[in-house]
Amino acid sequence: MAALEPKIQIAGVLQESVVDGPGLRAVVFFQGCAHHCRGCHNPETWDPKGGTPLSVSEVWDLLRYNPLISGVTLSGGEPLDQPQGALALAKKVRAVGGNVMIYTGYTWEEINASQVGEISELLALTTLLVDGPFMLARKNEKLLFRGSENQRLIDVQASLGKKTPVLWKKSGGWMDGLAITGD
Ligand code: SF4
Repeated sequence: MAALEPKIQIAGVLQESVVDGPGLRAVVFFQGCAHHCRGCHNPETWDPKGGTPLSVSEVWDLLRYNPLISGVTLSGGEPLDQPQGALALAKKVRAVGGNVMIYTGYTWEEINASQVGEISELLALTTLLVDGPFMLARKNEKLLFRGSENQRLIDVQASLGKKTPVLWKKSGGWMDGLAITGD
């Protein structure tokens, strides 16, 4: 018997965004977040019982993915609290040649300490990750793709297996030619 497709409790999607990572991206906002950061922009995503449960295929259909899109950003809410759905979605993105970016309230060190197999698989498919909770006291609106100074823009493939992550440099590889401002 075929395995059931994972479901994702989602808060919503954006078919096109230029502010949730490099390039033109689709965004999936996962529902449920236990970090409860003060000053969070999406507190309506906190309740794990809110939002809508959809199969990964249904989420994918909502995105109407097209060739102009460079990848999908998994945001929230907390994507890593739904690792099976996040992994299945990342596989779909990679299957069409897109890249995966993740926003998580967990730090790189916490993620590395996790023994969840799906998260290891997910990281192997992920290009870029913004880690850590939003900290209102360290808010900085000039940061590239993140809201507070504790959050890091991490080159996931260069960082795998390392406790100290390698920070992403915007001049590299898949981002060449895109106009980006910020540090
Ligand atoms: S991790 Fe993100 S979604 Fe969750 S409370 Fe913090 S800022 Fe909000």
